[in-house]
Amino acid sequence: MSGIQVMPLSLSNQIAAGEVVERPASVVKELVENALDAGASQIDIRVEEAGLLKIEVTDNGTGISSDQVELAFERHATSKLHEKDDLFRIRSLGFRGEALPSIASVSELTIETSTGKAAGVHLKVKGGEIIAQSAAASRQGTTIVVEHLFYNTPARLKYIKTTQTEMAHISDLINRFSFAHPSVAFRLLSDGNPVLRTAGNGDLRQAIAGVYGVSTAKKMVKISAENFNYQIEGFISTPDITRASNKYITLVINHRVIRNFRLSRAVERGYGSKLMVNRRPIAIVHITTDPLLLDVNVHPTKQEVRISDEDELAELITQAVRESIQTSERIPKALDNM
Ligand code: ADP
Ligand code: MG
Repeated sequence: MSGIQVMPLSLSNQIAAGEVVERPASVVKELVENALDAGASQIDIRVEEAGLLKIEVTDNGTGISSDQVELAFERHATSKLHEKDDLFRIRSLGFRGEALPSIASVSELTIETSTGKAAGVHLKVKGGEIIAQSAAASRQGTTIVVEHLFYNTPARLKYIKTTQTEMAHISDLINRFSFAHPSVAFRLLSDGNPVLRTAGNGDLRQAIAGVYGVSTAKKMVKISAENFNYQIEGFISTPDITRASNKYITLVINHRVIRNFRLSRAVERGYGSKLMVNRRPIAIVHITTDPLLLDVNVHPTKQEVRISDEDELAELITQAVRESIQTSERIPKALDNM
């Protein structure tokens, strides 16, 4: 033992990566969130061997200026949050300034980015160290390529499941992103094969059709409700279209996909006794609220959030579902709101 020492940065980044970067899908999530925060309207995701060999995300967002790009790889460096109070009114998906340094510490990463106003920059980072930098084209946007994920963390690599499981996580993730951001055109390719392509025309029902098929999307009914604190919009399946798991319920709050068991249950409760035992609906529920009512700083992956008055929101969701199911039973299918 040699006494207490501050650990080298590359090691502390690797430790942070343990929380943020659980599997290839976590990398995809962070890169796509950055693209969305950069205002991209087109995001292409290409993965090879379910992301274990390669993950490439290209966006047409703002880009990073060449004098700032190195900063993006420093821990706690962010353009999204500057002062203490900002933490209570977060509108961006990211704010911790941890994703890029974490990912770069457990992979070989290259970034090519340009603001479109000047020459772009190309940077190569290996195990957290910048190993090459050069000028690049000035097309506005960013491409990040992550290769050999977990090459220097053998324990994490062992924990990774089959490529099939890892690909299922990635595909599920992009499906949900397409529901949360119907005005963004997403394209997902796996080993060169198209998996998902969305139009990005802002139409949620079309985004649903891209994932669950046109006939299912056509049969889904609108929900809509609001009270003083929350506004709800979305689509739910009628009781005759069900699935065996609740992972077909997507909850989106202020454009962030969240996991929340109680709110998923609230959706199901709206069906009353109309669902068969062990069957679950398909639902995409968009919730809008004042960021002050949300605490997104609960977990590094930000999929769990604390919601003020969660019971009140749950009740609003249940009511909204109940009403649209009742309406759909009164109105013949031909008049449905397609
Ligand atoms: P955070 O998203 O929490 O700010 P990240 O480590 O994910 O932290 O990214 C660091 C910074 O790099 C961001 O704040 C942003 O300014 C910049 N950045 C990352 N990815 C992109 C991108 N695709 N387009 C534009 N800027 C980006
Ligand atoms: Mg980020």
